[in-house]
Amino acid sequence: MLPPAPVVLNGAPVALVGPVRIYVCGVTPYGVTHLGHAATFVWVDALARILRHAHLEVEVTRNVTDVDDVLTKAAQTANTPYDEYAAMQQYRFDHDMAALGVRRPDHEPRAHRHIGEVVRLAQGLIDSGHAYEANGSVYFIGRGCLEHSGVTQEQGLQLCEEFGEDLDDPHKRDRLDTPVWRASSGADPAWPSPWGMGRPGWHAECAAMVLHSFGSSVDIHAGGKDLAFPHHAFESAQAEAFTGVTPFARSWMHVGTVGIDGAKMAKSTGNLVLTDDLLTEHRPAAIRLYLLDRRWSQDWEYEPRALVAAEGRLDALYAAAGRRGNDAAQVHVMQSLLNDLDVPRALDIALEEGGRAARDLTHVLGLG
Ligand code: ZN
Repeated sequence: MLPPAPVVLNGAPVALVGPVRIYVCGVTPYGVTHLGHAATFVWVDALARILRHAHLEVEVTRNVTDVDDVLTKAAQTANTPYDEYAAMQQYRFDHDMAALGVRRPDHEPRAHRHIGEVVRLAQGLIDSGHAYEANGSVYFIGRGCLEHSGVTQEQGLQLCEEFGEDLDDPHKRDRLDTPVWRASSGADPAWPSPWGMGRPGWHAECAAMVLHSFGSSVDIHAGGKDLAFPHHAFESAQAEAFTGVTPFARSWMHVGTVGIDGAKMAKSTGNLVLTDDLLTEHRPAAIRLYLLDRRWSQDWEYEPRALVAAEGRLDALYAAAGRRGNDAAQVHVMQSLLNDLDVPRALDIALEEGGRAARDLTHVLGLG
């Protein structure tokens, strides 16, 4: 067997000593899947396929954030218990992912099954002086995350607010502190803890699920770029403070944000292109190629004409795969993919050289 090929991400080699442990922040199952979600999960799927093709062992964890205030509200509106509602929405999400050829992750932890771990995380953070209890909640001291993330105080506060952080919570010592454990308000799902009934904070949920799946660090932590701050900053700071192991994430894969008409595609704004709708008009492989034929880290705008063009690129790839080609070129296809997942370059080589290079690319990217 070939020795494991080094993979370069964000321009730096990811040093690997064992199976590649990939964690991607999954969805809060309270609504339909849009193209922004699809982009993140198709990229992580492509990353895993590329690494496996390079003879590396890969383990993917994609969590389900099934304890979250927006989900609770949606379930209440639908007059359904939160966990039943989440399970139904999860079924629809799984259906969309399967239609797009995204393989099931190896581990799929659900937040509501990791409450005890969040309680232990909160207690550990209190014990080490990184968090404090107030009025039944536990707050992580968050100010240090600003500098670490290269975010100014003003930007940090604005981003926290956008993601539903209560900046004016009177029990916080600092507006940038973030709840690891949240005291029950009565209407939300709640569990017992040393501080009374409550529920976990979002960032702590992911920290606990990563620690549960992979131990004190992860090789590649993925997610949409908009999660970089505050979610990933607070999650990794909590995990590092708890375990003492730095870095928590040895590399990050923050997938570019998808825009439409100049604005971010997001459920909260209703500014959406739904995966379901696209699948009625386009082949899944064409949607995958549309998502992948670009730099993974760059933000981009959805354009229906570009998706039609991707249909043409896909047909050209299939035609190239059927041609007699220069078989040696498939090495360059894999080199391009392992070099920061350079799909556009790999595709150019495959189209030009044809034969095995095109067949390999079709297979590796799940476009067959
Ligand atoms: Zn997360």
